[in-house]
Formats: sequence, structure tokens, C-alpha cells
Amino acid sequence: MPIAVAEIAGRLGLAARRFDIEVLPRCDSTNAVMLGRAEAGAPSGTVVVTEEQTAGRGRRGRTWFANPGDSLTFSLLWRFAPGTAPAGLSLAVGVAVARALERVGAGETALKWPNDILKQGCKLGGILVELVGDAPYSAVIGIGVNLRLPAGLPEDVRATSAAIGAPGVAVDANEVLAALLGELLATLDTFATQGFAAIRSEWLARHAYQNVPVRLSSDFGPPSEGICRGVDTDGALLLEVDRRVERILSGEVSLRPV
Ligand code: ATP
Repeated sequence: MPIAVAEIAGRLGLAARRFDIEVLPRCDSTNAVMLGRAEAGAPSGTVVVTEEQTAGRGRRGRTWFANPGDSLTFSLLWRFAPGTAPAGLSLAVGVAVARALERVGAGETALKWPNDILKQGCKLGGILVELVGDAPYSAVIGIGVNLRLPAGLPEDVRATSAAIGAPGVAVDANEVLAALLGELLATLDTFATQGFAAIRSEWLARHAYQNVPVRLSSDFGPPSEGICRGVDTDGALLLEVDRRVERILSGEVSLRPV
């Protein structure tokens, strides 16, 4: 079924009032489009969703692969009140995405710091949060989810990817998007008033690598290894190295189980 605003709004009920949803048949990157909309003054709750994303972005210039009909790719603009700190926002979004995907039948999901949704250890969805302005800041929240494994996924990426539905099983993008927006609304309202600290215990309960040996690799230095001890109240990764717990704040690292 094609993506349709009326279908999504019908499922959202009263919460639909908090969103202004636009469907684009095709675009390069919904985050790139939304950054433009944000600059032009679009209100909080603006959503851009596309049937076909041709140049999806991940962190550090990586590619997010999508295929029409197989993928759900969208961005949400959220404007925060003065005084709200952005620390931990992308982790809070991860909790909302995990809840929503479980609700629509994805099975059990887990979270990988800082921004991946996993199913049986493979990537089911990704999150790219880009902040706009400062004090008060706004966030462009980009989310990509595999409804089915996208056709044309490179072999190495396919090997580590997961999807909501098995091959050949129809998954309704409208139902998935409505569930995601509903959970995002609840989580972002909590985040805005109480910060990530109020969402942290649920993040930890879903953490894929709690107390597991991991390696952190970076483009800028040698990798470090340690035991993953979860995340701090501000979203920093806690890595135990030689019995000391280090806080990793930078998102410029990749985490892997050893
Ligand atoms: P890492 O997983 O190494 O920590 P990352 O979290 O920074 O990297 P992202 O920027 O979130 O990665 O996502 C981009 C990466 O995700 C790509 O390099 C590719 O390996 C993988 N990927 C891209 N498209 C998909 C997809 N549709 N499904 C699953 N994985 C994908």
C-alpha cells in the first residue's frame, strides 16, 4: 500500500494534531530536505516521508540503503523549549523506535549505542539526529527502517541486516509510521521535561551489549577494547578498561562485540 497521510492520521487519532506530514514520491535524503524546511521556519512536528530515498545518509558520511516498497525512510522536526539539553536525544529516539517496531510485530529488538536498532544482532533500523541552531535547539530526526530486506542491498550489508517482515510478507508502511510517530511523541515529551535520565533504564533493559566485551574503533586513533557497562544519564557510553570506567561521548566511533 502506498504511503498516505489519511491512513497515518487515522491510526494516530488525536495525536495526529501534533504532526504535519508530507509525502514525497522521491528525494535524495529526508534529513537534507528537513534541514531546509527547518531553516525556512517549519513548525515542530513536521514530517517528511518518501517512497524513494536515493541518497540516504548514515553517520560520518555513510550510506543508508533503501528501496521503494521495502523501506520506510522519514524525518521528523522537533523544536525544544529553551533550556532543554540535547544530551542523549538519539538514544531516547532509539527507545521509541524499538517500542514501535515491537508493537508492529518486528519481534524482540535491542539497542546498540549510539543509534542502531537490532533484531537478532542484525540492523533493523538506523537513526540520524542532526541538531539545528542552539539554545533553544531543534532536532532533525531521521529514521530508516527495513520493512523487508531492501532489494539491491550490497552483500556485506545484507549479511548484517534484518527486516520487520520475512521475504514476501507484506508490511504496511502506514501502520509502521503511525506506530513510530505515536511512540516518538510520548518519548520526546518525556525527554523534553525530564531528559534522557528518565528513559535510561528502558534503554539499558534493551541494550544489546550490556556487560559484553566490545571494541570501539575510530577514524582518528587506535581502537580500544573493554567491557560495555551501558550508558550514563547523559547518553555517554560507559566502557570499563582495566577496572576503570571511561565515558565515551563522541559519536565518531563504531562499536562491535569482540
Ligand atoms: P556502525 O554500525 O559501524 O556503528 P554506524 O552506526 O555509524 O556504523 P550508520 O551510520 O548508523 O552506521 O548506518 C550506516 C551503515 O549501516 C552503513 O555503513 C551500512 O553498513 C549499514 N546499512 C546501510 N543501509 C542499511 C539498511 N537498509 N539496513 C541495514 N543496515 C544498513
